[in-house]
Amino acid sequence: MTQDVYDVIIIGGGPAGLGAALYASRDRYKTLILEKYFPGGQIMTTDRIENYPGFESIDGASLIMKMQNQVETFGTEIKTSAEVTGLKKLDSGLIQVVCDEDAYVTRAVILSPGSSYRKLGAPGEEEFRSAGAGVSYCGTCDAPFFRDKEVVSIGGGNTAVEETLHLAKYASKVTMLHRREEFRAARVLVEELEAKAQAPDSNLVIRYNSVCTAIEGDGKCQSAKVKNVKTGTVEDVPCDGVFIFVGTVPNTDFLKDSVELTEAGFIKCDTARLRTSMPGVFVAGDCRTGADMQLITAVADGVSAAMALKEYYRDPNWWTAKEVEDMQPSGF
Ligand code: NAP
Repeated sequence: MTQDVYDVIIIGGGPAGLGAALYASRDRYKTLILEKYFPGGQIMTTDRIENYPGFESIDGASLIMKMQNQVETFGTEIKTSAEVTGLKKLDSGLIQVVCDEDAYVTRAVILSPGSSYRKLGAPGEEEFRSAGAGVSYCGTCDAPFFRDKEVVSIGGGNTAVEETLHLAKYASKVTMLHRREEFRAARVLVEELEAKAQAPDSNLVIRYNSVCTAIEGDGKCQSAKVKNVKTGTVEDVPCDGVFIFVGTVPNTDFLKDSVELTEAGFIKCDTARLRTSMPGVFVAGDCRTGADMQLITAVADGVSAAMALKEYYRDPNWWTAKEVEDMQPSGF
């Protein structure tokens, strides 16, 4: 039996993968998304998106559902629970995408596996890792379990600020730890956070220059050891939960034998055309070098990768053009 050959297989069904699928399937390329869990990636756990044009405010799951419906309308096939374990270039020039229980053949690949929560590495983090025991990486998912309880949140980026504001709607008290004096998050969010913390009878306390060195408890989280990195003082902060929002790491382990990665695991690419080190394999989204790590730029990356793919199919010499300047623009 001959196997179907896809025009493009997109690995990862988050915003980047869905952006790529929209353009690829509208070009009538036979398009397959392979998704380890279900479409959406990390944005699924965001309860308030205010920086995606056209939507004053929308939650991640609703936005992804709209994107998924849209790509399926144009013919994209989506396989869920399909974990890719590697890529293989075949003698025919086609690419084999190997999954746990299956393998697919395609002319080209767009990698958009996204990223995962970065761990803090503190003692107790693994032991209490579950909403029931007290350690969580997702305020949107787990905040309701901490209604009228005290929690600690950690981090200073957009995620930490947004999720801490969300936690403060449920918890009786939120102690937010940031290891520096300045937040990395967007100013507009920091202003909202600071205003909330300064409001009379606020349930939100921000501790600057503070890190969590251990999470402690008997069977479940009961306190966080908090160290002030400027003064060296250490204090036990009683809490029922610790929410960790210290960034993300790319989901690229399965690619280490096929495409070049940086030491931190990001997929190396030429940022103008999103080509990886393996001919016929493009990249889009948070997992690549130079990514802006925004929802909107992830979607745009997927679109750019799909447009680059079109150039690649149109001109066989396109991939090997040494200089980006040698290439024709992919837009019109
Ligand atoms: P991030 O921007 O990388 O921020 C991570 C934060 O965690 C930083 O404040 C960092 O501190 C802190 N941190 C890292 N390691 C730590 C450790 N071991 N102990 C204590 N603190 C630690 O990560 P993110 O907030 O998850 O955001 C990831 C990307 O998604 C960003 O580009 C962000 O803009 C984007 N994002 C966008 C939106 C939106 O557009 N609405 C929402 C969420 C996320 P330092 O600042 O000192 O390094």
